[in-house]
Amino acid sequence: MEVIYCEGCGTKIQTENKGEIGYAPAAALEKDIILCQRCFRLKHYNETQDVPMTDDDYLRMVSSIRDSQGLVVHMIDIFDVHGSLIRSLPRITGENPIILVGNKLDLLPKSTNANKLIHWLKKEAKDAGIKVLDVFLISSAKGAGIDDLKAAIEYHRNDQDVYVVGTTNVGKSTFINTLIKQSTGHKDIITTSYFPGTTLGFIQIPLDESSSLIDTPGIVNKQQIAHYLSPKDLKIVTPRKEIKSRVYQLNDRQTLFFGGLARLDFIKGDRQSFICYFANELEIHRTKLEKADELYENHLGGLLSPPDEDSLKLLPSFTQHSFKLTGEKKDIVFPGLGWVTVSGEEATVVVHSPKDVSVGIRNSLI
Ligand code: GDP
Repeated sequence: MEVIYCEGCGTKIQTENKGEIGYAPAAALEKDIILCQRCFRLKHYNETQDVPMTDDDYLRMVSSIRDSQGLVVHMIDIFDVHGSLIRSLPRITGENPIILVGNKLDLLPKSTNANKLIHWLKKEAKDAGIKVLDVFLISSAKGAGIDDLKAAIEYHRNDQDVYVVGTTNVGKSTFINTLIKQSTGHKDIITTSYFPGTTLGFIQIPLDESSSLIDTPGIVNKQQIAHYLSPKDLKIVTPRKEIKSRVYQLNDRQTLFFGGLARLDFIKGDRQSFICYFANELEIHRTKLEKADELYENHLGGLLSPPDEDSLKLLPSFTQHSFKLTGEKKDIVFPGLGWVTVSGEEATVVVHSPKDVSVGIRNSLI
């Protein structure tokens, strides 16, 4: 059989497996210009599509960034910093400078202090061994902060290529699509091209005669809670609009369950408020500490859901950490789910979260 290549990205065309690289419906082979479905959608609808990637493809992509010169834009989800910060980034990007971009700003309460948030992101990056030039907060969905980011990219890139790197689900495609939309009118300037040495066509948005912004495929990080949830549950825990605080006045020896995905036990301390910031759709249950284990055992997947039946098969079991809090207002962060703000009065808490999705503490953002 004749081998046909996509005229957009150069990948081998196949007509069997939808969703796999190089797929095109059989009818597309009749056309004068043959494109894979991904390039077709990009050309006609200005839409990017995720493609699966093998480890080999990934390694080749990674080494091509390290061996080239350019600016790296690392996009993370500010709702899931732990799960979206790529700790191996310096290995991937070599000596190339990095700008850190926190996306999904629109989800945070209006009262969030942006400077504190930026400070925290810088610290998280530093602790992970990632040296960043600068940090930006944006909402790809709403367009906030995009102009400033574009100006910074232009300033720092020194006429070189720009690589956009992120884990899955941080909003990278939404960001690229926003950029593509802003440059429409010049539809043809958007090209997909063969990334050196890989079988994938990556999207490039030309920046000038000799350099482009390059969209790299999302990296899967097992620390993202998103990988352990069914699509239905992911919808429930992913906030779609600004999250509203829910306040609980707790006595010691009381417990809060966040669905059945996380748990906070207030072990010791005076009665105080626990301000919870989670997707408005995620139910929070309060119970006595002595009843909490029993409730969890008997009602996980029922009253305590998500997880639903499908997520239950994926979800790792809980691990726990205890924290002694005192002095300053702090946020107890449940990556990918939300956080609980405590006032700084003395308190001992024990938190339970799925293994690998580990809970952290930061100075309160509000
Ligand atoms: P990718 O896997 O990194 O390419 O991420 P996507 O662009 O597919 O986005 C993942 C999810 O996050 C989708 O449900 C998007 O609608 C959502 N999303 C992306 N950007 C934003 C944003 O700025 N704000 C909000 N609220 N949601 C966003």
